[in-house]
Amino acid sequence: MQSLKDYIYKNEFTSKFPGDDSGDLSPRQTPGALYSKAVPTPVSKPELLAWTETLAEDLNIAYPTDEDLEILAGNKITASMHPYAACYAGHQFGNWAGQLGDGRAITLGEWENKGKTYELQLKGAGPTAYSRSADGRAVLRSSVREYLMSEAMHHLGVPTTRALSLVYTGDKILRDMFYDGNAAYEPGATVMRVSESFLRFGNFEILAARKERENLENLVHWTIDKFYPHITGENKIISWFKEVIERTAHLMVEWHRVGFVHGVMNTDNMSILGQTIDYGPFSFLDDYDPGFTPNTTDLPGRRYAFGNQPSIGLWNLSRLATAINPLFEDSAKLEEALNTYENIFWNKYYQMMGEKLGLDEVKEEDKMLISNFEEILAKVKPDMTIFYQLLIDIPEDISEEEKIMNHFGECFYTEPQDEVKTTFLDLLKTYSERRKANKISASESKELMRKTNPRFILRNYLLHQAIEELEQGKNELFEKLRTALKDPYSDKFDEFLKKRPNWATKKAGCSMLSCSS
Ligand code: AMP
Ligand code: MG
Repeated sequence: MQSLKDYIYKNEFTSKFPGDDSGDLSPRQTPGALYSKAVPTPVSKPELLAWTETLAEDLNIAYPTDEDLEILAGNKITASMHPYAACYAGHQFGNWAGQLGDGRAITLGEWENKGKTYELQLKGAGPTAYSRSADGRAVLRSSVREYLMSEAMHHLGVPTTRALSLVYTGDKILRDMFYDGNAAYEPGATVMRVSESFLRFGNFEILAARKERENLENLVHWTIDKFYPHITGENKIISWFKEVIERTAHLMVEWHRVGFVHGVMNTDNMSILGQTIDYGPFSFLDDYDPGFTPNTTDLPGRRYAFGNQPSIGLWNLSRLATAINPLFEDSAKLEEALNTYENIFWNKYYQMMGEKLGLDEVKEEDKMLISNFEEILAKVKPDMTIFYQLLIDIPEDISEEEKIMNHFGECFYTEPQDEVKTTFLDLLKTYSERRKANKISASESKELMRKTNPRFILRNYLLHQAIEELEQGKNELFEKLRTALKDPYSDKFDEFLKKRPNWATKKAGCSMLSCSS
């Protein structure tokens, strides 16, 4: 194992591309630069709150010594590091926002292991050239949320950036959590995030907006050669774009499978690798409501609601297409590629839903059953996770209506009545017959469902409780959640297989969140 302190870091991105190496941390536009050097600003009393053993082992990183902890807190950089904030732009809530950049993230260096390199990126380490009017810091609550949730997504099998450490800074920071003029001091923290790359659609958009064709071309080629090395031949760029489309569609389907709502799908939060990136006001669905957005800022238009995510994925890909358009003679190939998104998405979606429902295959007529499922669930609004768990063991004799209603009793926030109840029961009858017609055995069907439907999800109210405890110096729930999230398909953590409690329905941080983190 190698220590964070003694490792000789790679700095391929900063050596390959032009950047602003002045180290100036004052907010400004940086034309011509793909990054700006940024040394983390020291904090007063670092304390390690969590270290991700599994990730550290994968990367061959030794458990942090006191000196390593200083690196994780932003108090120390080593001689081989070239710390920087990346410059990117973005479309936020559908509007061009111009230059954004890493305002509170600093990549310290690249770590190589088994032929791959990983950015070690510190979030919450103080201002950079891109912090605009903000402080570059992150509060404990948002850091705990990112730390736990990115690891939870990893163990669910959803593409995501990861988190290596969570560190208290010992400093308080001022936040107006509800944007109502009542700012308060909250504990600060840093998270060391890890991914092969944190490049976003916005890193390409900024170069197109600034008309830096050479930088754009170089970044595209570098991205392909480094992260998509299997793409070779004449038409590399379009092949790569098609793969980004494919990965983005896959990610949307995976979010749908587990009931994840990102909450801020701006183009600066879309990973070029198709990973879940930048955990902010996200949420899992408790009750199945496609119109649910966890982000208070998104409430007026619900642009980033659960059910809109796949179409926003396409909208964002269109922005990426516009950005790389200067590298093509005309836009026909890009448009053609974009037009394939819907098909790719639906094929993956039906395949995934078939597995969620324990079907041996998805025939044409099953698609209707799947759409009916979505439609009726949106009316019944059961707890999504509990509903699918109960569906695995749906009683054989579906004709006894009361027995069926009892079986699903635990998943209802409001028990369906009248017409909704009738359509719900009819749907389950059709479904049950379809499952009995499977060519695979009943136990194989159940096994497929158990592998596809998570039994443990990191609900917002659980995160909220864990954060409240941590703020009082207790880590019992935090540690329990850390353990449970590693095994989300097992029944070992059934103490958490519960609906969102009533008290959490309207409480800030338990269902809705603001971006002020
Ligand atoms: P987000 O909504 O978290 O994706 O952030 C949008 C932009 O605001 C990005 O450029 C962030 O780096 C920046 N940002 C968010 N919070 C802060 C902060 N506390 N300090 C500096 N920049 C921030
Ligand atoms: Mg962001």
